[in-house]
Amino acid sequence: LTSSQASPGLYVIHIAAEMAPVAKVGGLGDVVTGLGKALQKKGHLVEIVLPKYDCMQYDRIRDLRALDVTVESYFDGKLFQNKVWVGTVEGLPVYFIEPHHPNKFFWRGQCYGEHDDFKRFSFFSRAALELLLQAGKKPDIIHCHDWQTAFVAPLYWDLYAPKGLNSARICFTCHNFEYQGSASASELASCGLDVQQLNRPDRMQDNSANDRVNPVKGAIVFSNIVTTVSPTYAQEVRTAEGGRGLHSTLNFHSKKFMGILNGIDTDAWNPATDTFLKVQYSANDLQGKAENKAAMRRHLGLSSADDRQPLVGSITRLVPQKGMHLIRHAIYRTLEMGGQFVLLGSSPVAHIQREFEGIANQFQNHDHIRLILKYDESLSHYIYAASDMFIIPSIFEPCGLTQMIAMRYGSVPIARQTGGLKDSVFDVDDDTIPHQFQNGFTFMTPDEQGVNSALERAFNLYKHDKASWQRLVQKDMNIDFSWDSSASQYEELYAKSVARARAAASHT
Ligand code: ADP
Repeated sequence: LTSSQASPGLYVIHIAAEMAPVAKVGGLGDVVTGLGKALQKKGHLVEIVLPKYDCMQYDRIRDLRALDVTVESYFDGKLFQNKVWVGTVEGLPVYFIEPHHPNKFFWRGQCYGEHDDFKRFSFFSRAALELLLQAGKKPDIIHCHDWQTAFVAPLYWDLYAPKGLNSARICFTCHNFEYQGSASASELASCGLDVQQLNRPDRMQDNSANDRVNPVKGAIVFSNIVTTVSPTYAQEVRTAEGGRGLHSTLNFHSKKFMGILNGIDTDAWNPATDTFLKVQYSANDLQGKAENKAAMRRHLGLSSADDRQPLVGSITRLVPQKGMHLIRHAIYRTLEMGGQFVLLGSSPVAHIQREFEGIANQFQNHDHIRLILKYDESLSHYIYAASDMFIIPSIFEPCGLTQMIAMRYGSVPIARQTGGLKDSVFDVDDDTIPHQFQNGFTFMTPDEQGVNSALERAFNLYKHDKASWQRLVQKDMNIDFSWDSSASQYEELYAKSVARARAAASHT
């Protein structure tokens, strides 16, 4: 196993189920890479541990090679071998764990959505810690993410710190409290955790069923630092309406809990260098943006008769959280108001996918509407660049990245005021907000009138005040959404936690 060289900064290891671009399902993948790169740039030593999925984008991993030792890890009363691979993704060193378990945990053609996800990811969490122990690593911070690697927190303190992997503080980030991974308490035993000890109200017991355990709750209880992905969402989840059953746990542990707004990877999302685009452009050269709009209209077979016809974009998972019914409404309302609409989305839920396929078929050869129902990274870049406006009518939104990417590409956001959207989109007509921060159109009530009010104001400005619209586009493109300031906040949390641990150790 490779050992890690000394570094003047902190040594941070992320254990995660996703990492962009090799294994990305949603925002989590972007965060692991974006935060990792930003911390590395600040002089910290950052490593990532991922499952070795069969469905990864292997062409985006540099120098992938298998290590010549295997790591043996416990599962369901037996020991299994894991082959460990190392490679570099976006300049970050990554360990990939390939379990030699007969259930072929990560050989399923998809990252999530399998009947045994609880077992697959509790296995992975333990194998990742086993790798760190056997490699003799001494990280300052082990950072785990979402329920899939939430098991790391109790495993670390109950099993691995006593075995000698005890240099680290544990940071847990929950990217979405909707997904908690609860399961029957007995399932916890397969990764070697003590069900009796942990299925208690003050530990991992689910707050709504005493025969179930909740990995996210476990990570809140057992981690030293708990974060979520925006300050507003951090407040929302501490209320009974927003906490999905965990508000009392979060309130009890509020001292170690905080919301930090995600950044975006401004290298990957840069209209001035983006090779997915027809033409690169910048805030000082918006002609390039117009050319992308024209090219995309041709590419999708939309009418090009009027260059001043506003184009509204939407790129999203089609799930209730994203306000799909409001997206559907926005398509029809845009058409009524004389605009064009392009939706790129896909749904893990079969009946939702079918419903949108119905709408897509209805508009198959339409001059002004196009729905593309798949996951397509290159088309997503093109839509951000080509659209004038970008709609995000989420019912709740922990952080949301699309509003920030849209602004970087000069597409003005129309967003519901919730979670991270509320922390990043500020209404141009709200006099209580200083002018320099106003950057989009917002609405509060998640209904059709709410969408209409914001969409109509956006169309009005676009159609009747071209100069103001252009200034707004340029202002949005110049906002700094890089990871720089968010990574500094994580850095500070890490450093304080490490300092506290060292101070406590020196007193014993
Ligand atoms: P979530 O993590 O809830 O899906 P975020 O806004 O945090 O939402 O992140 C969504 C990310 O996924 C963005 O980078 C967005 O561009 C991308 N994305 C969503 N749907 C698609 C799609 N159908 N094709 C390509 N990229 C998509």
